[in-house]
Amino acid sequence: MTRFSFAISATDGAARTGIIAMQRGEIRTPAFMPVGTAATVKAMRPEEVRASDADIILGNTYHLMLRPGAERVAKLGGLHRFMAWERPILTHSGGYQVMSLSELTKVTEEGVAFASHLDGSRHMLSPERSIEVQRLLDSDIVMQFDQLVPTASSREQQAEAMERSIRWAKRSRDEFDRGGDHAGRAAIFGIQQGALDVALRKASAEALIDIGFDGYAVGGLAVGEGQEAMLGCVDFAVDMLPADKPHYLMGVGKPDDIVEAVLRGIDMFDCVLPTRSGRTGQAFTANGAINLRNARFADDGEPLEAGCPCPACAVFTRAYVHHLVKSGEILGAMLMTQHNLWFYQRLMQGLREAITGKRLRGFAEEFLRRYTLKSDPVGWT
Ligand SMILES: [Zn+2]
Repeated sequence: MTRFSFAISATDGAARTGIIAMQRGEIRTPAFMPVGTAATVKAMRPEEVRASDADIILGNTYHLMLRPGAERVAKLGGLHRFMAWERPILTHSGGYQVMSLSELTKVTEEGVAFASHLDGSRHMLSPERSIEVQRLLDSDIVMQFDQLVPTASSREQQAEAMERSIRWAKRSRDEFDRGGDHAGRAAIFGIQQGALDVALRKASAEALIDIGFDGYAVGGLAVGEGQEAMLGCVDFAVDMLPADKPHYLMGVGKPDDIVEAVLRGIDMFDCVLPTRSGRTGQAFTANGAINLRNARFADDGEPLEAGCPCPACAVFTRAYVHHLVKSGEILGAMLMTQHNLWFYQRLMQGLREAITGKRLRGFAEEFLRRYTLKSDPVGWT
């Protein structure tokens, strides 16, 4: 049985559509991966996530090693069994979270020592431990452990972090390859770093290709640099990666970011936006995002989005969801999360079909025109 393969079935400009085949299922690309940080896509049952058309979801090394503990998940049969999701799971290595969430971090060549954001307990996350945790979880797509620095840090700091990330990429790859059965059924991706610097990105890509990975992520973006700077970096970063391997833009993004990145040759995305927005009252529609907290929806008898085939829009009105959100009812977060996940997956399906039909440019222009037009400014967020 295939461990990991990526077959591109059609291209349109720099964009590609295809299928990643793995033992737990196929992933249609371009793919959006809902975020299930703590072994749950928040407010959704696994069958609801699947019904939204998601082929793969995310888990997180940092969160799961602290709670409930990777060894415990392994003892209980692995992450798929634990959370009742049978299809592929990609796990982040914890490199980003350990720097953004934990305290008293100390970065050395060995790894990152830190205090848990939950209880202050001391831990060490190294390339070896990160890969071990991802193996204990039985992750399908393992991410290398890397070091992130803000895009606004000095070039010297960025160069140092990029070079250390390369050494950690090699250690991650070696530890993955020592994984026995797991290495025989899972895949590992390298992460290109180098902030917004062309030369650093190039050096990072070349070193990663030298080590050899199943796929390549563009890392260190969507951390506050703005869409223009991000896309400017993606413009040159993707060309440095092998064309026949999946390209994953980590942590992106807004629907318009995704369309723009697909045009530039990105195949995989993850972002908390559809789920987090669902819990804060924001719904995505083809005409832009709307804030259901707004009083204008109190008497609105329309669904969240006209024509949306999702189970929330089939039954409930904006007025009802507005009431739930205003009342702090759990069902409000559930319905909005469900709609948002369907919106994202319908966008991905539209992108895949447009690439196959060689009409991506027109699809993207029409989507971006409607999505960013904001023809009715009242209540738009
Ligand atoms: Zn809907």
